[in-house]
Amino acid sequence: MSNSTSNNYNNNLMQCQDCKGHFPLYTLEGLLPAQFKDESSFDEALLCLKCRRKAFEFIKEPYPYQVAAYSDSIVGVTIIPRITGSEAKLQYGLDDSFLDLLPHVTARFVSSAGEICKIKMYEDREILERARWMFGRDVGVLNACRVLALLGERIEHPPVGAIRERRNFICQMFLKQDLFEAPELPSVRRSVEHRQGDLHQIANFMRSRLIEYAFQAEPPPPGVNEYIDPVNGARILPRISMFEAKAQYCMDPDDLINCRLIGANFVQAAGAPGIRAMYEERDVLLVARLKYGGDVGIVYARGWFAARGVQVEVPPAGVFRERRNRIREAFLTKGYYAAPELPFVRLYVQAGEGNLEGIVQNFAIGWFDR
Ligand SMILES: [Zn+2]
Repeated sequence: MSNSTSNNYNNNLMQCQDCKGHFPLYTLEGLLPAQFKDESSFDEALLCLKCRRKAFEFIKEPYPYQVAAYSDSIVGVTIIPRITGSEAKLQYGLDDSFLDLLPHVTARFVSSAGEICKIKMYEDREILERARWMFGRDVGVLNACRVLALLGERIEHPPVGAIRERRNFICQMFLKQDLFEAPELPSVRRSVEHRQGDLHQIANFMRSRLIEYAFQAEPPPPGVNEYIDPVNGARILPRISMFEAKAQYCMDPDDLINCRLIGANFVQAAGAPGIRAMYEERDVLLVARLKYGGDVGIVYARGWFAARGVQVEVPPAGVFRERRNRIREAFLTKGYYAAPELPFVRLYVQAGEGNLEGIVQNFAIGWFDR
């Protein structure tokens, strides 16, 4: 040490063994002892930030256990470890501003105020690479966390071993549903730290919480939720068919698996009777919002499908929606579904023509009660 400092004009500074510049020890930009396993003339050298970046550019440091993608030993799925921006700050000392250009996925969660929020999830590996560059490789990241802690910043060590594995697993399970689980939630913490509780149960709990709050954050448009018809006092629960769910909300049959439904009698094109599934429109809307990211996402999806030749429709609004709901409810109450393209349905919805009770009665007599 004495030799390398012999040229110093300031006792607090030492010389970088590569660029020969003078720097303080153990500061963010200063000198750190960097170790080299091979491919270098050094075993260990005191290097400044710039020279650490340069020296390690071609020497890849291995990733710590379960930071890069790996195959889960129990379920066999590929796990891609991801963390949030605040975890990147806590664990790697990286500020939000350094994450801007990193690829990410977006997940939803319910805030403590009961609102649906979005959060960006970054690949743990990408965050680590960014931190390595920022602070001059692993030794620099460790040093940065130490320096930041001394400055009073909150710093946490990244989870390791089995705890890291369970955290990665639960995180990915939630992400499959576009959900983010806050690690501080008691159920999540029990599972991650003490291996208690059923992961699926936790995911279902999160999902029901999300559904509970979804409409508070973004109420459905008029005539989608249940209401009392001011015209005839009937209780109306708007329902749509699978075809309408597809055309209006860009849903696949698989998407509707959790939507509440009833079966209704209808007449097929060939004249034979059939049963049509009628889904609660509020459930379909909710699933579509979750899938596409709110109403704005549904509008975008409609445009996307239309541009690819898929037939799409804007859900009816205003007086057309009121009439459609009214005539549909009147039919469904009797166990029937009358398709919107039937002339008498079309006339009623588009022009308000016809007497509702008469229409339903004629239909019933004509097709089913013969
Ligand atoms: Zn240097």
